[in-house]
Amino acid sequence: MNISKSEELFSRAQQSLPGGVNSPVRAFKSVGGNPIFLQKAKGAYLYDVDGNQYIDYINSWGPMIMGHAFEPVVEAIQKKAMDSTSFGAPTELEIETAELIKSMVPNVDLIRMVSSGTEACMSALRLARGYTGRNKFIKFEGCYHGHADSFLVKAGSGVATFNIQTVPGVTAGVSADTLTAPYNDLEAVKKLVAENKDEIAAIIIEPVAGNMGCILPQEGFLEGLRKLCDLEGIVFIFDEVMTGFRLAQGGAQERLKIDADLVTYGKVIGAGMPVGAFGGKFEIMKHIAPLGNVYQAGTLSGNPLAMIAGYTLLSHLKSNPFIYAELEQKGEYLKNGLQKVLEESGQPFVINHMGSMISVHFSDKPVVDFATAASANNTFFNKYFHGMLDRGIYLPPSAYESWFLSHALSKEDLDRTIEATKKNVTSGQF
Ligand SMILES: *Cc1c(COP(=O)(O)O)cnc(C)c1O
Repeated sequence: MNISKSEELFSRAQQSLPGGVNSPVRAFKSVGGNPIFLQKAKGAYLYDVDGNQYIDYINSWGPMIMGHAFEPVVEAIQKKAMDSTSFGAPTELEIETAELIKSMVPNVDLIRMVSSGTEACMSALRLARGYTGRNKFIKFEGCYHGHADSFLVKAGSGVATFNIQTVPGVTAGVSADTLTAPYNDLEAVKKLVAENKDEIAAIIIEPVAGNMGCILPQEGFLEGLRKLCDLEGIVFIFDEVMTGFRLAQGGAQERLKIDADLVTYGKVIGAGMPVGAFGGKFEIMKHIAPLGNVYQAGTLSGNPLAMIAGYTLLSHLKSNPFIYAELEQKGEYLKNGLQKVLEESGQPFVINHMGSMISVHFSDKPVVDFATAASANNTFFNKYFHGMLDRGIYLPPSAYESWFLSHALSKEDLDRTIEATKKNVTSGQF
C-alpha cells in the first residue's frame, strides 16, 4: 500500500503540532509506524490522502453511528450555517434538543450542553461535589473520563496506551481526592467507602467500559454500586460518553436497566460536532448556575451547528429504532465470524462485545478489568492492527480502545474484516 503522502504530511505536521497530532492516540505511537492522514469519508469507508480506502471501525471514536457524511446531518449543518455559526445567546433549537434528549434517555430532568466529553465529566464531578459538600470520589482503573486533572489517575485510553503512571502537571493535592478501584470489584469499592465514611461525593463509571478495550460489567456489579450510593448518599454518575445513544436510545441506563443520578454524554450526541452534555435529576441539577451556585459556563455551549447536527442524528435514531436491532446483529455477526477464524488459528483470544461495541484481546483468560486487559498479548495486537490496516481495515490503534460499529457497515464489509483477520492470523505475516 502506498502511503507516501501520509508519510510526507506526518513529517511536516511534527514541525508545528506536538507529535504531529492534536490528540495522542492518533499518533500510532504505541502500535508503531506513522499515522495515516485522511482526506474524506463516506458511509463505512475512509479515504486517505494517498487514495487508499479503509473500512472504518473507529468512527471518530463513536460519533458516526450512521456512518460518515450522513446526508441528513450534513444538509442540516449546511442550512443552519447560513443563519450564523454562533450567537452566545439562547435559541429555540437548544430547547428542542434538550426535549428530544429527555424523551430518549431515562432520569434526565435537566441537561446542560457543553462542547466535549471532558467538559461534561469535569462539570458533573464539580456538581456532585457541590451538591454533597464532599471532596473525594471513586473512579475505576482503566476507565477514561476525559483529560480533566481529577480523572488522570489510573486512566484508560491514551493514558493506558502510553503507560503513563502519573501525569506531570496534575498536582498530588488534586490526585489525593481521586480514589480508584478495579472494574467489576464491588468489595474493593465497599472497602473504600467504609474507609472514607461521609467523604465520597461521587462514584463515576463507564457502565460498559470502552477505554481499556471493551469490558462488560459483571452481573450484580452496577446494581451493587447503585445500592451502595443510595445507602451512603453518594452521587452515582454514569459516564455515557461512549455508550449514550449507542447501546440503546437510552444508552446503558436503558440497556442495563440501572438508574444513574447524573449522566454524561458526548460522541454520538454531537454527530461528529464538538458536543458534550451532562444531566440528571432536578434535585441535583438545580445547583448548576444560574439556578444555583455551582459555576459552569461555555462561550460555544449549545452552538447552533453542533445542536442541529446532534438534533438531526438523534431524531433519526429515535424514529428508526430498528437501527439498534440491526447494529446488534452486525456486532453479533462480526463477533461470531472473528471467533471462528481466531479459534482456527490457535491463538488465545477473548472477544468482549455488547451491541455495536466490540474488542479483541489476545489473552487466555477472561478480560474483566484493567489488570486482565493489560496482561493480554498487546504486542501481538499491535501486529494484528498493522496487518489489518495493510488489508484496508482501520481498527483503533491500541488494544485499550473499543471498536465502534456503524450502521453503514454491510455484510460484505464484515465478511471482508473476518477474511482479513483470517489471512492475518494464518499467514503468520504480521
Ligand atoms: C471519549 C470519552 C470521554 C472524553 O470525551 P472528549 O470529547 O474526548 O473530551 C469521556 N468519557 C468517556 C467514556 C469517553 O469515551
